[in-house]
Amino acid sequence: MSDCIFCKIINRDIPADILYENEKVLAFKDINPQAPLHLLIIPKKHIASATQLDESDYSEIIPEIFKAINHLAKEYKVSDKGFRLVNNCGRDGGQTVDHLHFHLLADRQLQWPPG
Ligand code: IMP
Repeated sequence: MSDCIFCKIINRDIPADILYENEKVLAFKDINPQAPLHLLIIPKKHIASATQLDESDYSEIIPEIFKAINHLAKEYKVSDKGFRLVNNCGRDGGQTVDHLHFHLLADRQLQWPPG
């Protein structure tokens, strides 16, 4: 989508600190980190939110996202000590970018519940 900031990152129209990429998924550092390690894992396909997945996305996109998450968690050595995955969905969920993304937050003791 031409006005989507994450699609612009995928297309290299705007810069980002890209850490992982394959045919289906991209991961990069969050521009406003909320933890010492704060990554965003996104599908290259524009999907507006977790409520907008179509049937094929469950088998073709979601598994690739979780493979990327585990690959990154191992690479950044947080797999054993733990991390948090967050998907903000919709306005009440705090979603500000309408392109499906998972936050991976790590390298500090995270609190619960979130606000
Ligand atoms: P949301 O609030 O769950 O939708 O998360 C959107 C995230 O995207 C926020 O944590 C922002 O800091 C992050 N973000 C917005 N623009 C950029 C960018 O250009 N590069 C990297 N991260 C971004």
